[in-house]
Amino acid sequence: MHRYIESPKVFEFETQITEVKQVGELFHVTLAESYYFPEAGGQPADRGTINGMKIVQVIDQHPIVHVLEQNPGSASAKCIIDKAYRLENSRQHTGQHILSAVALSMFGADSSSFKIAEPYSTVELNKKLVREQLDALQLRVNEIILENIPVTSSVINDIENIPQTLRHSYNFVPLRLVQINDVDTCPCCGSHVLQTGELGQCFIFGVEPVKTGMI
Ligand SMILES: [Zn+2]
Repeated sequence: MHRYIESPKVFEFETQITEVKQVGELFHVTLAESYYFPEAGGQPADRGTINGMKIVQVIDQHPIVHVLEQNPGSASAKCIIDKAYRLENSRQHTGQHILSAVALSMFGADSSSFKIAEPYSTVELNKKLVREQLDALQLRVNEIILENIPVTSSVINDIENIPQTLRHSYNFVPLRLVQINDVDTCPCCGSHVLQTGELGQCFIFGVEPVKTGMI
């Protein structure tokens, strides 16, 4: 498991650079320890700097690979994670869990993909929802936000311990589960808030047809 999972509030740290590899015009950097979130599961990679050099991508490998436009050197690393950007992505990701859970429970609409992007995030559903359904969906999501429900995570290490009540079935471990009380439990590698009240408000901007329906 990557370190951001157990230490989501670390936004500055110092460590050692273990390798710098030039790939074309970019530098692939690995660290003795990394708290950066790598791009995964529809959530973009963290932004930040290593020794003041801007990180342009973080790749989900073991160890995590940090891609920089400039060489940060080969000794110690002063690492800074863009806190505001991480927290915004955590809000978007947690909001998606709630929206996907409510869309499924209210209308049987399953989420097939999710992408955080600016200026808005998208959730692809396998069923088209009409305006009244979207209004009801948005209302229920905002009720759950106002209820300020705890968001917790746990890691399952034994296949026999994987709950049978997940939105989809999984048969591999370790499996990280993110739970929003009785609203939703699902496997996820992303970053999330600690209470739903941190989300503020959910607003559904519109629907774009893709295969069957998209918010
Ligand atoms: Zn998630």
